[in-house]
Amino acid sequence: MDGLDTVFDFFNPQDPFEKYKSEPRTVPVSSKDSSSQAEINKLRHDIERLLLISEALWTILRDQHGYNEETLQRRILEIDASDGKIDSRKATSPPRKCPKCGRVVAKHAARCMWCEALTPGDPFAR
Ligand SMILES: [Zn+2]
Repeated sequence: MDGLDTVFDFFNPQDPFEKYKSEPRTVPVSSKDSSSQAEINKLRHDIERLLLISEALWTILRDQHGYNEETLQRRILEIDASDGKIDSRKATSPPRKCPKCGRVVAKHAARCMWCEALTPGDPFAR
């Protein structure tokens, strides 16, 4: 049993999405912070939508391509551990540079704002 197996057993997963499932909660809104609360509610809605999409994609892989929960959990842990820590998140990526002009570009920018070169990056960069 390697280290990853130990961690895997520790989590003893049944449903890889279970810990993310909960009723979307809304907090009472006061006039003071209604803008912030509206943004939080929007983010909660976006997260729920992403979970639905992730779960749909997962069930397609499981039901139509034969992957199992252990494979999914193992991959989640591998990605989680890729930044050196198993903490249910992936660390923020360092700034990236334009391949043409070398200036720093926004993480998800398709083009450099300085020279307009294509700047394909990791679509999952944090
Ligand atoms: Zn550039």
